[in-house]
Amino acid sequence: MAIALQRALEKKVLIGGEWVESESGDRFEVRSPGDGSLIGTVPRCTGGDVKRAIAAAIEAQKVLARMSVKRRAELLWRAHEIAERRAEDDAVVLCREVGKTIREARDEIRTYSNPHFIEAAEGLKRFRGLINPSTQEDSLDKRLLITHEPIGVVGVISPWNWPADIPNIAVSHGLAAGNSVILKPASTTPFSAIAIAEIYQEAGFPAGSVSVLTGPGPTVGAELARNPGTNAISFTGETKTGESITAIAGIKRLLLEMGGNGPLVVMDDANLEAAVEAAIIGCFYLAGQVCTASERILLHDAIHDEFVDRLVARTKQLRVGDPLDEQTDMGPLNNRANADKVQAHLDDARARGGTFLLGGGSDGLYFEPTIVDGVTSDFLMAREETFGPVAPIMRFGSLDEAIELANETPYGLQGAAFTSSLRTAFLLGEGIRCGTVLINETNNYWDQLAPFGGMKKSGLGRELSDWILAELTEVKQISIDISKVKQ
Ligand code: NDP
Repeated sequence: MAIALQRALEKKVLIGGEWVESESGDRFEVRSPGDGSLIGTVPRCTGGDVKRAIAAAIEAQKVLARMSVKRRAELLWRAHEIAERRAEDDAVVLCREVGKTIREARDEIRTYSNPHFIEAAEGLKRFRGLINPSTQEDSLDKRLLITHEPIGVVGVISPWNWPADIPNIAVSHGLAAGNSVILKPASTTPFSAIAIAEIYQEAGFPAGSVSVLTGPGPTVGAELARNPGTNAISFTGETKTGESITAIAGIKRLLLEMGGNGPLVVMDDANLEAAVEAAIIGCFYLAGQVCTASERILLHDAIHDEFVDRLVARTKQLRVGDPLDEQTDMGPLNNRANADKVQAHLDDARARGGTFLLGGGSDGLYFEPTIVDGVTSDFLMAREETFGPVAPIMRFGSLDEAIELANETPYGLQGAAFTSSLRTAFLLGEGIRCGTVLINETNNYWDQLAPFGGMKKSGLGRELSDWILAELTEVKQISIDISKVKQ
């Protein structure tokens, strides 16, 4: 069943509670990676627009910081109601601008993005301070108040692969914590971020507390990072962009969620049927364009042949095509730059003698689900993030070798492993250097109330639930000597 397409969108940006054009007057087009059709146009903002948004955000933050916790939570609940009401329309726009399938787009809005409004509202109510007596022998009359204060203005710079869910983690929890937020979405997917700003505005958040600015990363994103008016940056994107933000941000709170090269380890005692399903989701969900994707499949020698046979058979069932078609399992890649990177990794694998068991071809932005056997540590796809629908197969003979292989990249976001031994599960869980290790689960699994983030070049800090509330607040200690106050 095909979904009726909407007419081209013409959106403005939100600054100080008003929907306005950029001071440049320029706009740029956004096209669907699925069929090249025009989705709409948005303003091409400048550094001057960023400065205006920051000035408004600083004033709005004073209003938010004085607002009661209950009132902030009520506004977030109202935002949730609005988001649920418009979820299907927003999913269609998201599907068109990312190129993910309509089923994946609905999943992003309903399963991941919309619950953040509630998680932030309820998390905020639990996120209280402490009062403790002093621990010092000579200070027993002192009481220590430990509180969480808003950090101020938070810049949120987000990627195209999850254009609603990812920014909304930081926006919802940032507002809950009493901060104002300025959102800069990826240029190929601005409409999902604009939808989020519309939701917060309709819910009644004070003017200026949420802004959205569209335009080039090196202009708009860099000004947000550099400007001393922002107190924290929540960035999600490529490691090299995160490194450039780190270089210009100066001393401010940085929450960095970056690239991955996640291993999926399959031991000789694993449930192979479950492990193959995990690989299908890990490698081909959103055409492999997920930071937590299974970027390397590490197989024990004893189960290699059976696993590979099953994986090839199962992958052949995937339907690649129009992302708006309800039957489609895998849509196109989002953009040419990413497609070029995937192609470079495939070319490198061919040149190094990798065995293509399936796929390897492409038509424009549509890539076939691909399985490459015989991958070794020198292949580009073993060393770097491919970000495409590719399952690179590597082999190992022992547990120690598996852990060594899993850890040999500079990334450390999310690792997964299959085993039926509890001892092996613990040794893998402890041995793999990733922010999350999932045993008997796909790499692409996320618990919404557990800490999420990367080690090594995958990130800095942890998001979701209380962990992101902690990242977006300042911890303050106030010490009161009660022996010196009047009765
Ligand atoms: P990019 O790093 O290219 O872009 C991310 C954001 O940064 C975009 O909004 C972009 O704007 C902006 N940007 C680009 N250059 C600059 C700059 N010099 N200064 C400030 N901002 C800038 O990442 P992608 O959008 O390509 O996203 C894919 C990457 O994101 C993958 O590496 C993936 O692993 C990672 N990712 C990590 C996640 C995690 O949680 N760890 C989750 C999801 C994705 P513009 O679009 O205008 O260039």
